[in-house]
Amino acid sequence: MHTQTGIFIPPDSTTSKTQRELVLSLKAASISTYAWGRSTKRSSWLRAIASTAMVCLAPVLIIVWYIALTSFQGSLFALVRAVSTDGLMPILKHYSPQFDSGVTAVYIGWLFLQAILYLYLPGKINTGQRTPAGHLLSYRTNGLAAWTVTHVAYLGLWSLGILDPAFIPKNWGSLIVAMNIAGYILSAFSFIKAHIQPTHADDRKFSGSSVYDFYMGIEMNPRIGQNFDFKLFVNGRPGIVAWTLIDISNIAYQYQVHSTISPALVLVSILHGIYVLDFFIHEAWYLRTIDISHDHFGFYLAWGSLAWLPTMYTIQSQYLGLYPTTPSWAYLAAVFGLGIAGYALFRSANNQKDRVRRSKGSCLVWGKPAAYIKAQYLTTDGAQHESILVCGGWWGRSRHANYVGDLMLSTAMCALAGTTTLMVWFYAIFMLILLVHRCLRDEERCRAKYGQTWDDYCKKVPWRLVPGIW
Ligand code: NDP
Repeated sequence: MHTQTGIFIPPDSTTSKTQRELVLSLKAASISTYAWGRSTKRSSWLRAIASTAMVCLAPVLIIVWYIALTSFQGSLFALVRAVSTDGLMPILKHYSPQFDSGVTAVYIGWLFLQAILYLYLPGKINTGQRTPAGHLLSYRTNGLAAWTVTHVAYLGLWSLGILDPAFIPKNWGSLIVAMNIAGYILSAFSFIKAHIQPTHADDRKFSGSSVYDFYMGIEMNPRIGQNFDFKLFVNGRPGIVAWTLIDISNIAYQYQVHSTISPALVLVSILHGIYVLDFFIHEAWYLRTIDISHDHFGFYLAWGSLAWLPTMYTIQSQYLGLYPTTPSWAYLAAVFGLGIAGYALFRSANNQKDRVRRSKGSCLVWGKPAAYIKAQYLTTDGAQHESILVCGGWWGRSRHANYVGDLMLSTAMCALAGTTTLMVWFYAIFMLILLVHRCLRDEERCRAKYGQTWDDYCKKVPWRLVPGIW
């Protein structure tokens, strides 16, 4: 069946019958117990232990990385050797990042600046995805303006001699402490707010395990008033705007300390810059990704965006700022090419899905009418909605082609550093684990949301990530 320009692939008769049955049975059942968002039955000892471990140990990982980077030439093995000879406590006492009230004040100022830019800079109003309870929220997308104003201000203060451009690496330990404190405070605030003053009470999820709820979040879209959306602000401002500033500051640091600016550091910073700018240019698309559409707001997102992202995603430039490497131009060109190819795939796949969905299938993909499946789903208010599952273009090759591009890009970011040092490669390893896990948890959710139609889609597009492999 043809729509204007799209090819709608109708489900077979058994499918439509099953889908109808699903809808009818869900309507007949108690709608309030049905949810295609995060499952409400997540309470288990294993999950509670895993959540506790993440909340307690993830910040320790940041500290270990910091100590290895600044005091052991980036070698985790050298740090482990030192711990085994000198003991853990003396090493921690001697090398741990230190609290500094001045740096903490600067960091608080940073959060306020980003909040003011978020609230008052002009921007287009866009909507996100419909939530499981049926809400369709609006967001002002002014991230690109906030990024630009921040960077112009940074460069301006630098050129006026007010700000040392290498301020960030010179105060990195104390910034790490401040970011972690902020991450914990915000996680605790979100947990309490979800209990006593939720924004959309019908979109909350309680698992039965308080630790799991603290870690994965209870509220879906906590807000203050109509405009201050915690999830978009925290995920999309202080940490990610800082990403490119951290790179610039490390370039300045490398120049001040080593009197050189290494091509490897410049190319890493360019790839980071492309990724960050892409995020802001396509901020409306970001509203329809898992972070904003489906994840609840707890430690995972709050601490993750405030502390984990700026510290662990920028390891390559932190390392190069301290220890410049000199890979050959041929190597740099090849790896940079891999990064650009990865970015092209990432953007092209994400655009395809967004375009087909926004045009309701009436668009071309690779010069041909878009191929898609119509899928029905219910929200907990009992209303029935229709969505589109794209199954042409990149989305006909694999169900998460966009992740493949991201993995190529993150591999290139690490490889550009030109070292086999494990900690520098951490970002690529982390992204592989994160995105493989995401494939699994997202598909579980999509199956609960779309029922048999999701299975039909999986039959049509059998590969999850890389065709022929997985
Ligand atoms: P997606 O943007 O792919 O969003 C997944 C959602 O899209 C699903 O939950 C489903 O939502 C919908 N969907 C699934 N299959 C289809 C289909 N065939 N056609 C149309 N819609 C479909 O995933 P993410 O939000 O995880 O990632 C977005 C980008 O961000 C990716 O490129 C990823 O690599 C990147 N990323 C980067 C991270 C980082 O830390 N650097 C972390 C995570 C992601 P619905 O309920 O609307 O149907």
